[in-house]
Amino acid sequence: MFRLLAEHTSDVVMRLDASLIRRYVSPASIRVLGYRPEELVGGHPRGIIHAADWPRIPPLLEAARRSSEPVCETYRVRHRDGQLIWVEGSYAVLADGGFVVSLRDITRRKLAEQRLEAANAELVLIASRDGLTGLANRRRFDEMLAAEVRRAACKRHPLSLVLLDVDRFKLYNDGYGHQAGDDCLRLVATAIGGAVRRPDDLVARYGGEEFAVLLPGLDENEAAAIGERIRLAVRTLALTHHANRTCGGLVTASVGCAGIRPEDLDPGGPVADLARKLLHEADRALYEGKRRGRDRVVRASDVPSSPEAPAIDGEAARLDAVARFRDRCADAALLDRFARIAATLLDMPIGFVSLVERDGVVVTGRHNLPPTRLPGRSAFCAHTITGPEALVVEDAREDPRFRDGAKALGVAAMRFYAGVPLVMPDGNGGGGHRVGALCVADNRPRATLDAAQRLTLSTLAGMIVREVVPASDAERALPEPVS
Ligand code: GH3
Ligand code: MG
Ligand code: MG
Repeated sequence: MFRLLAEHTSDVVMRLDASLIRRYVSPASIRVLGYRPEELVGGHPRGIIHAADWPRIPPLLEAARRSSEPVCETYRVRHRDGQLIWVEGSYAVLADGGFVVSLRDITRRKLAEQRLEAANAELVLIASRDGLTGLANRRRFDEMLAAEVRRAACKRHPLSLVLLDVDRFKLYNDGYGHQAGDDCLRLVATAIGGAVRRPDDLVARYGGEEFAVLLPGLDENEAAAIGERIRLAVRTLALTHHANRTCGGLVTASVGCAGIRPEDLDPGGPVADLARKLLHEADRALYEGKRRGRDRVVRASDVPSSPEAPAIDGEAARLDAVARFRDRCADAALLDRFARIAATLLDMPIGFVSLVERDGVVVTGRHNLPPTRLPGRSAFCAHTITGPEALVVEDAREDPRFRDGAKALGVAAMRFYAGVPLVMPDGNGGGGHRVGALCVADNRPRATLDAAQRLTLSTLAGMIVREVVPASDAERALPEPVS
């Protein structure tokens, strides 16, 4: 009966004795293994099982001895023609201590599985790569950021992040076309990759013209050194970008760096909060770099967190310019009107124009703002005039400069603030003096301004100055805002 059954199945059926010597082999061995049964009888399985798979066999036999059911394993055996084939071997123990083994050829199934695995691996790779630059994409970056925060917390080592944003890239597209913009981004990606050398560092395209570099084990200072290397590598590409004239007419990037110190890391703490904080800090540093004039590296710890605005060079000359502005602005209603236009165009409840005087910020034009006196150096506007571009505070309670002073700001409920400096020409062809600010505000936190809103605000600020500066000064009027 046994022989009859064995000889009519397409699987190879074998009987092994207690020392694993083959005592019977069914004729299917010719088709499956290339051997005639008599060539295999008397031999030991080890002779044809792939050496790398053999170690799985003794435990399998052990399991078969303990089980009343057959036990299975897949492994490779060598066909008579030398090829390796995949088989599924099923082992059942016999009363005499030997085994009945049936071998099924599963090579085709195994190859299909392997092709599927390879395709899946490629899909995973595609899903984690950015199509334009070949760098890791945002999704991969987010996964790795969480994983690295967790790892840093376990190992108690620092973790840093470098964020980079190509300067005035919209104008690059406008000037040279989107295709050239794509080529530029590819070159920038290569430059960043070349400046980051350790295998554990992750370079990713964070989105649009923004890139992120995750640097495990490095502190903020070390990250800033790499940030500077990256900034130089981008500049050294020497790609012409006419509209980026304040940065030498070349493609440049602004870089923000932030780090988490081991003492900030709690191994059981919430990973998401730390990851968010690291990103937020690097982003704040990046935007401070934009505000200070672009093509530079700023560390998060360099971003002023003191409620007092930093001192300004040439403060005496600036105060003269403030006095000139005040004297020439006879029409207070004019500034109220600009405050209202700014608020309306940016869809904000509050708008105002301020002058930053020696002993405090004086609101000279207002829309929906009760008469208030803002404290001197800690007011939003005092900070605004320390940079050439917009200051945006998304939520005063979250910003170290304004968090504790939220009440001292005079307007306790003001959470969102955006202001651009009012720049008076100095008459010498220099950069001009920042005398005050055109501002919008809201009682609730808001997302940062987009590029069009920033442009609206800085255009209006330019118009205010041109309205106030009399005709005799017109020839010294400021250049149009760049962005
Ligand atoms: P800033 O110096 O303040 O960063 O100015 P910016 O012009 O670089 O910033 P903004 O955010 O206004 O513009 C970013 C531009 O990047 C807008 C968008 O057209 C362009 N951009 C984003 N992704 C791509 C891309 O994949 N290819 C190309 N060619 N352009 C892109
Ligand atoms: Mg950007
Ligand atoms: Mg940009």
